[in-house]
Amino acid sequence: MRMTVLGARGSVPVEGAAFSICGGATSCFKVEAGDEEIYLDAGSGIVSAKPSPHSRLTILLTHMHLDHVVGLPFFLALGQPRRLIDIYARSCSGLTPKEALDRLIAPPFWPVTLEQYPSDVKIHVLPDETLMLNDVAVDAIESSHPNDSIVYRLTRRGRSLVYATDFEHNAPDRVEALIKFADGCDLLLYDAQYTVEEYERYRGFGHSTAEVGIEIAARAGAKRLMLVHHAPWRTDDQIAELERRLSERHENISFARIGDEIEL
Ligand SMILES: [Zn+2]
Ligand SMILES: [Zn+2]
Repeated sequence: MRMTVLGARGSVPVEGAAFSICGGATSCFKVEAGDEEIYLDAGSGIVSAKPSPHSRLTILLTHMHLDHVVGLPFFLALGQPRRLIDIYARSCSGLTPKEALDRLIAPPFWPVTLEQYPSDVKIHVLPDETLMLNDVAVDAIESSHPNDSIVYRLTRRGRSLVYATDFEHNAPDRVEALIKFADGCDLLLYDAQYTVEEYERYRGFGHSTAEVGIEIAARAGAKRLMLVHHAPWRTDDQIAELERRLSERHENISFARIGDEIEL
């Protein structure tokens, strides 16, 4: 599998010279595995995606918060006639994924619905059991976040990636469940929106810190940790400084930068 960072910003897209290295686009991570092209979330990062004409396209949404779906109406493949795009998510706030997306991507918020694009979009409820996308196994557990977010694990040929964005460490049972779920993974993507100091101010907002990510990664035996969902105010320089400080004591840690690629 190859994972590419298309968007690692949290909450809202930002732009400017201070954000050019880590990027201002919101959550979207592309995973290529054989003929499968899988997008984890459809934040504004998906706008820059250039899907291969030969790939089967799947979008796995963690939840419906705007920073994770705002790029969806601009996904290039939506304009390709009869192109099949499968979107999976869990029901949230009492709505199926289709009901939720049809509320947002529709007038007056947007001129057309997903069904009106030339492509063939199918919106599914993510099953409780493992979903197989060719030879990629997709599993999920509940996150700890307002409005029913989930954590994904993608496994192929013994390699695995866990995508734990929009996760707050305030519920011990959810933390333990995540550690178990991420057991031995090759790459853990973890929500590090806040610094430890900021977290005190934003308790209950549904996000975490790099320090907690390091602890969870260590306890899960994750081989590599990539920190994602950067606060909208966090500049490249600040991220580099955080990374330098944490890397002194811990190995295989990085903060996601736009365009980063990891082979698994
Ligand atoms: Zn988010
Ligand atoms: Zn969220």
